[in-house]
Amino acid sequence: MSDTDAPLFYWHESPGNRFRVDVADFDEAETCEHCRPVYSADVVDRLRARVAELEAERTDDDALRERMADILKRTAVALRGPEPPLTAWSWHDLPERAAAAKDATP
Ligand SMILES: [Zn+2]
Repeated sequence: MSDTDAPLFYWHESPGNRFRVDVADFDEAETCEHCRPVYSADVVDRLRARVAELEAERTDDDALRERMADILKRTAVALRGPEPPLTAWSWHDLPERAAAAKDATP
């Protein structure tokens, strides 16, 4: 974060005690468990936009992961046959099973 991304100020809020922290005490506020930083609207907007970007990336990653898992599951079933009830084939040995199946093919 750049200097303009620094908190505008801090609120110290502990039971029965709420006050705005002086600039001179910002270092202390950073480590105080009761102090909350207050950021400019610009910083908050940029952080919200970044969160939205990351959420979209995660959605894409989840979709990719699900497609890959489906491929692995179907490959395991193709190599080993239908899964027994309440069981899923492991994927750890798929490369070796695929190689063995290829070698067994005339
Ligand atoms: Zn504090």
